[in-house]
Amino acid sequence: MAIQTGNFDNLGNSYEEGSNAAVLSAIARSAEELTAGKGWPDGVNDLLKALGRATGVSRVWIFQTIEVTDTHITQNYTFEWASSPRYKQLGMPMFSMFTNKIEREGYRETIQSRLRGEWQKIVTDKLKPGWLRDNLEVQKIKSMLTIPVMVEDQWWGTLGFDDCSRAYDWSDVEIALLKTAGYLISNAVLRDRLSAKRRQFSILKQLTDSSVWEFDFKTWQIWCSPELLHSVPVPTDNMRFSLHKALRMIHPEDRLPMLKAARKYMTIEKEGVFRFDLRLFTDCGDMRWVELIGNMRSSENGNPEQLAGILIDIRKRKREEQRLREEAVTDPLTGVTNRRLFEHRLQEFIDYSFSARKTLSLLFFDIDYFKELNDTFGHPVGDKGLCHLTEICEAQLRSNDLLARIGGDEFALILPDTTQKTAAAIGERMLRKVESTPFEYDGIEHRLTISIGVAANVGDLTSPSRMIETADAALYEAKQHGRNRLAVFTECPL
Ligand code: GH3
Ligand code: MG
Repeated sequence: MAIQTGNFDNLGNSYEEGSNAAVLSAIARSAEELTAGKGWPDGVNDLLKALGRATGVSRVWIFQTIEVTDTHITQNYTFEWASSPRYKQLGMPMFSMFTNKIEREGYRETIQSRLRGEWQKIVTDKLKPGWLRDNLEVQKIKSMLTIPVMVEDQWWGTLGFDDCSRAYDWSDVEIALLKTAGYLISNAVLRDRLSAKRRQFSILKQLTDSSVWEFDFKTWQIWCSPELLHSVPVPTDNMRFSLHKALRMIHPEDRLPMLKAARKYMTIEKEGVFRFDLRLFTDCGDMRWVELIGNMRSSENGNPEQLAGILIDIRKRKREEQRLREEAVTDPLTGVTNRRLFEHRLQEFIDYSFSARKTLSLLFFDIDYFKELNDTFGHPVGDKGLCHLTEICEAQLRSNDLLARIGGDEFALILPDTTQKTAAAIGERMLRKVESTPFEYDGIEHRLTISIGVAANVGDLTSPSRMIETADAALYEAKQHGRNRLAVFTECPL
């Protein structure tokens, strides 16, 4: 006999309506459609139709459980298949987001049974007179089978089969088969939830470069989605690693502060959101600034169970912060340190020279007759002159020296580990270099000269203001003695 092949859609079309084989083949066909094909909600509608045809009932429906309290239950009639238009109920106001009192004859037991995940079958004629029987009779239901749909261990809704033309007593096999249909629906609900979550996450990811992470207190393991952990995109699932490995991915300077902040959050703050900026190394060793955002979930007795959240790429923000920080301490015209940072740094240099007993020298210099240059040739020429002077001085600097513009045409040069004699020699060299290096503006050549005051401190206790005062006095002296020269003040104690 030749190999036989076939399309699953055609399987079971010849089974007799109402037979178990017909129900089974309807479920098999729908299973494929729900997991690989249409899914939610079209696949569910098709499943109800297939079940309705295979079982021969008047109506197949799904109530979604919205809320159950001690006294009331709110449900919504979300899906229906009816064998004839006269059995249709979907869209009726009485079934849309309707609330019933649970405290009704027979109803509380039904709800409790559904909450436990059990099936229920009712033949209306055999019910005791009361609210439930009246309710079914109004709907002309002669018999009913209901199967709860459980999603993630919660009663999500009810799959129901109404018979309006026969009082049908469902067999165990039929109920077991239809329970399988309930699983298919719960699978479809889960897939729908998952795809909604995936959509939300992809929206979030389009707005921010981010990864999702979770730390489990039981296993001390972390998992993280791969986006920010790779320098180049690679198709990888969530990555799982130990806390030890995760810490090694963090910049050494950020590790301890991050652990301290996390400990404070977990022991003192506990509630609210944990946030921390840190530098992370990707798999290629690239460094990237990220913000770690998370919050903690604790068990009922208050023990931490999980710390989870997102990592956001904040390289742009950090670059901007760096730019603003630099702007605040940099002279915009010449690009050298401004007066604010100069005074702060001078204090650091003094502290070092005091503790290391090393001589610190300070040069103050000012352009001679700069006002005249401005007045004669205009401010842009003066500006070019300021930049020109800066370039000459920067070319003379050693790596630890610090040049600053501290006023209009006034500059300071801090020379650590430098005796007054060496400082004076450096100053003299600068005088000669400035004097002999003209600059050009609009085809006209200009020459500058400067006057320099030198202050030196041989490791004594002093203050920035005292050193500045001394260097300024030396500068004044150089100006008084004819400019384009240098004067020295040795002592600048407090
Ligand atoms: P001295 O030899 O005594 O230093 O004479 P001076 O003309 O340089 O006098 P002073 O130092 O008092 O003049 C400083 C001048 O610097 C005054 C001002 O017009 C000019 N100035 C200050 N800031 C700027 C600037 O940003 N750009 C330009 N082009 N000029 C500036
Ligand atoms: Mg001047």
